[in-house]
Amino acid sequence: MSALDWLETAAAERERAGLHRDPIVRRPDADLLNLASNDYLGLSADPRVVDGARAALTAFGAGSTASRLVVGTTSLHIDFEDDLADFTGFAAGLCFSSGYLANVGAISSLVGRGDLIVSDAGAHASLIDGCRLSRAEVVVVDRGDVAAVDAALAGAAGRRALVVTDSVYSIDGEVAPVAELYAVARARGAALLVDEAHALGVRGPGGAGVIAEAGLSGAPDLVMTTVMSKSLGTQGGVVLGSRSLRTHLIDTARPFIFDTGLNPAAVGGAHAALRILRHDPGLPDRVRANAAMIARECGGEEPRAAVVSLIVGDPHRAVDWAARCRADGVLVGCFRPPSVPAGTSRLRITARADLDESAIERVAAVVNRHRQEVTA
Ligand code: PMP
Repeated sequence: MSALDWLETAAAERERAGLHRDPIVRRPDADLLNLASNDYLGLSADPRVVDGARAALTAFGAGSTASRLVVGTTSLHIDFEDDLADFTGFAAGLCFSSGYLANVGAISSLVGRGDLIVSDAGAHASLIDGCRLSRAEVVVVDRGDVAAVDAALAGAAGRRALVVTDSVYSIDGEVAPVAELYAVARARGAALLVDEAHALGVRGPGGAGVIAEAGLSGAPDLVMTTVMSKSLGTQGGVVLGSRSLRTHLIDTARPFIFDTGLNPAAVGGAHAALRILRHDPGLPDRVRANAAMIARECGGEEPRAAVVSLIVGDPHRAVDWAARCRADGVLVGCFRPPSVPAGTSRLRITARADLDESAIERVAAVVNRHRQEVTA
């Protein structure tokens, strides 16, 4: 008998429901076409990005050696924060060790007990966890329901309030009505936090994101969060906003204060990726064009970012479909509850800017053949 015997029962239940997950293990010599990553610009293995990471390793060693406020801040962190702020049109940026921690840190520093958060039902788990940790009251509205956001804020006049949304939703690549949400938030005296994890490098002028696309770069009461782990090919998260926001986070965000500083190699690599993006503003167009071609060839809906969803419904079928694709050398994402609502299990295929037409045709041939088998 053990107090943890229930783990076996719980695992068996997940297995029966098609909800057990085994991480896919990539090996350096594997010949796999990877359409399951968030490496939208194909920069994670770009020699210039690897060189940027290597130069950081050489200069500062393999770790940041302490929390940011002790000695874990290098000149690389500051240069990157300044450059990303300049690129996205904000006054200042602050790096966290991951996008997850950036969201948790930003939200829990901006609102607390007695305050109000209005979040939508499609919010990424890191936004949800930031809301929970803040202890503020959380009102959840349907995705993109601007009128419901307005109504929730109207009922909270006089309280500090924060509206929270993704700009591009991670699972299906849909785009939130950021301009409308901003107008409503401003009119009601609330701040707006927008997670641009899946938009940076993919949408907006030169890949600067949906906020920039909406003409709201650097607007008051607007906070942008984003990640270095997707288009920028490495790891880490960034909160962008005013200089006073940056100072506030440094002094109050627990995931910043008590976490070891982001690895210098991740910063050096991401900064190299940002320079590539700034020099080649056609990269975002290429990833979106590739996503459109994948959707066309695989029978998916016209994508608005880099993500193509192919819904199959049943989780067992989704797992089977993805496994068959993998056996044929094509890696695709497979999303099931709790990542997506019940009955909408799917393949999630992510485009990369560096895919050529023949690679996309190979992907489509494999995906379409196995779709017929799993739905037969
Ligand atoms: N926000 C969104 C929308 C995400 O999709 C993710 C990661 N998948 C994160 C935040 C968290 O970022 P990270 O992986 O850097 O922790």
